[in-house]
Amino acid sequence: MNNKCLSAWLLLSLLGLTLQALAQDAPAREITNITGDLYRVTDNAHRTMFLLTPEGIILTDPISVDFSTWLKAELEERYDVPVRYVLYSHHHDDHASGGAIFADTAIFVGHENMNSNLAREAENSIFKNVRPPDVTFTDRIAVTLGGKTVEMIHALPSHSDDSAIIRFLDERTIFAVDFVNVGRVPFENMGGGPVAPWIAANMHMQATVDYDIATLGHGPVGNKADVGDSIRYLEVLLSEVTAGIEAGLSLEEMQETILMEGFSHYINYDLWREQNIQGTYRGLMDE
Ligand SMILES: [Zn+2]
Ligand SMILES: [Zn+2]
Repeated sequence: MNNKCLSAWLLLSLLGLTLQALAQDAPAREITNITGDLYRVTDNAHRTMFLLTPEGIILTDPISVDFSTWLKAELEERYDVPVRYVLYSHHHDDHASGGAIFADTAIFVGHENMNSNLAREAENSIFKNVRPPDVTFTDRIAVTLGGKTVEMIHALPSHSDDSAIIRFLDERTIFAVDFVNVGRVPFENMGGGPVAPWIAANMHMQATVDYDIATLGHGPVGNKADVGDSIRYLEVLLSEVTAGIEAGLSLEEMQETILMEGFSHYINYDLWREQNIQGTYRGLMDE
């Protein structure tokens, strides 16, 4: 290899490495159809949804400034109507940030507790990109656009006290975030609070909300039976940790012995099972 060849080879290798690094850093983003004009958008581990109507787009969580900037460009390329509504699942920054990107055309709707939760976090910089809702609701609200209706229903408090179950009526599909899972264990220690309210919120949703498809803030798409299965995960978790405490087991002993084997196929079972037990334990000990 002569010197010219060598430098060309070096340059190409460096370029290859750079491209590889860029590919690894690039967020995994994807728009997939759920049913009819309803779509799910993936941003790494986070998901949101949008419904296309002849008069505009109804979007759920904006997720982040970077994601919303990307999504806005994607939507503009695909459709000739703007985002008219942004419907918040809850106030947490990793789902609710970035809304300002759509503020030129959209009305923002969230549960009324979002405002007090955001006011409490006013000095917390991680919430700086969460645009407060323009319109709030207490129990439920219906948003109608281009002949389509989307309902927001207040979930019982668990993961947060401002969670909305967002229901696309014609599509028989719900979008709900963090307090509901399918095929996936809940995040880390579930906030370390009591688990019973999570079960209650899920049971209440199952009993009162009519839907077929569950598209959630994380993880795979499921159906109503899949949500039922994940409620059983929470019930087993709670009953086994309760029994462990009554038997005088330490947290470490419970983390070794409570295996919930029927759920070992759940996403992040290996990663978060022990933290789920720790959070459940803490929730019970603090009661
Ligand atoms: Zn959350
Ligand atoms: Zn989340």
